[in-house]
Amino acid sequence: MQQEKLVSVAIDGPSGAGKSTLAKSIAGELGYVYVDTGAIYRTIGYFVRSRGADPGDAESVQRLLPEIHVKMMYSKDGLQHMLLNGADVTEEIRKPEISRCASMVSAHTCVRDFLLEMQREAARRHSVVMDGRDIGTVVLPEADVKIYLTASPEIRARRRCLELEQRGTPQPYEQVLKELRQRDWDDMHREVAPLRVAPDAVTVDTSELDFDGSRQALLRIIREKVGR
Ligand code: C5P
Repeated sequence: MQQEKLVSVAIDGPSGAGKSTLAKSIAGELGYVYVDTGAIYRTIGYFVRSRGADPGDAESVQRLLPEIHVKMMYSKDGLQHMLLNGADVTEEIRKPEISRCASMVSAHTCVRDFLLEMQREAARRHSVVMDGRDIGTVVLPEADVKIYLTASPEIRARRRCLELEQRGTPQPYEQVLKELRQRDWDDMHREVAPLRVAPDAVTVDTSELDFDGSRQALLRIIREKVGR
C-alpha cells in the first residue's frame, strides 16, 4: 500500500502573534503533529541560564552544547513536552525570564546548527504544523504551506499579558510591550536566520481577528494549498 505523502506547514512570525495556540489547534484538526520550535530554543536558554553562563556569549554557549540532550515528547492531548537531559522542563521554560535568554542563545550559529536536524527529522517522520521564526526560510524551505502570522505589537502585548495572567505570573503591560519590541528587534536583526517573510509565504495579520477567525483563515489557506 502506498503511504500518504507527508505534508509540512510552516508558520513563522513574531512572538505573541498567536502562532502556538493556532498551530496546535490546526494540527489537531488536520491530524498532524504540532512542533513548537520556540520551546526547543527555550530549553537551550534555560540550560545556559541554569549553568550561570552568559547567553549572549557564543563561545560559552557552544562549550555547553555537548552537555545538552533535548528531546520532544508528545502527551495524549498533543501537548509537546520538552525533556532536557531526561528531565521534563515544559513548565520552567515558559517563565518570562527565559524568553529573552532563548532569543539570545538563538542568535548563535552553533545553536541553530545544533537544532536544525532535530526539527527536520520531525518533518521527515510526520505531517507537521511547525511554528517558529525561520521554518519557511531555513528549516523547511520546501514546506507545502508557508504562513507568516503577525499582529500589531500592542495587540500582541495585550494577548501576552492575558496569557501571563492566566498562568498566574502577571506582568505590567508597558513592560511586556517593551520586552516584546526588544525581542522583535533581536529576532529580525540577527545575522543568522533572522525573522523575515519567506517570498512564498502567505501573510496573515490577526490584529482584527479573534481566535476562531484566525483559525478559519489558516485552515482555508492550508486546504487550498494541499487540497485536503
Ligand atoms: O516562540 P517563542 O517565543 O517560544 O520563542 C522563543 C525565542 O526563540 C524567540 O524569541 C526566538 O528568538 C527563538 N526562536 C528562533 N527560531 C525559531 C523559534 C524560536 O530563533 N524557529
